[in-house]
Amino acid sequence: MLKQLLAVFLESHCPLCHRSSATTICSYCQQKLANEQLPSGDRFWQGDLPLFAWGRYDGQLKQAIAQLKYHHQPEIGSILGNWLGQAWLHSSVSKPNKIAVIPIPLDREKQQQRGFNQAEVIARGFCQQTGYCLQPKGLIRIRNTQAMFNLQDAAARQNNLQNAFILGKKAPQTPVLLLDDIYTTGTTVKEACQTLRRHNVKVIGVVVTAKAGWDISII
Ligand SMILES: [Zn+2]
Repeated sequence: MLKQLLAVFLESHCPLCHRSSATTICSYCQQKLANEQLPSGDRFWQGDLPLFAWGRYDGQLKQAIAQLKYHHQPEIGSILGNWLGQAWLHSSVSKPNKIAVIPIPLDREKQQQRGFNQAEVIARGFCQQTGYCLQPKGLIRIRNTQAMFNLQDAAARQNNLQNAFILGKKAPQTPVLLLDDIYTTGTTVKEACQTLRRHNVKVIGVVVTAKAGWDISII
């Protein structure tokens, strides 16, 4: 009886559907999230800045990322990061032995408002799985790019982001993977990559939880 009573108190609530659940995300929501996983996250692993994506920025995954960012639910990020790490390890992408993972930083004001950087939380989960070295201060964001989504054309976005990042105090000694929560146009990660490459840091690619603009018809 006491045990049952304790179980009720100890059971937490799923941050996505608010039902009580023994796991951080309930099994129902985990299933819905799994529906957004890409069958081959490495299909964009090509070109100058290869991309690896766990899922589609849609449905439950879109909601989970919104909960993570705007409703202060970092535990969601940790789980998504772990899943991203598992998918990455199971992929056929060739991986150097040592990799430093740099999450795309927020500017200071935004990080203070939110209390954490969602990309860093995901990166922590990713590194738990992969054993890679997390470098949360590998890059520093020096310009506020809050109004990015208002800038429709690519040239305006690019201009807005120029010199948005500087290298952190400790330059990575190993190849780098950049990590972000969402990949939309790629402008942000490209700028981050350029900053690193300007300092002769080898960037092997970008890993993200969700890719926007994914056309379901070409799976
Ligand atoms: Zn749920």
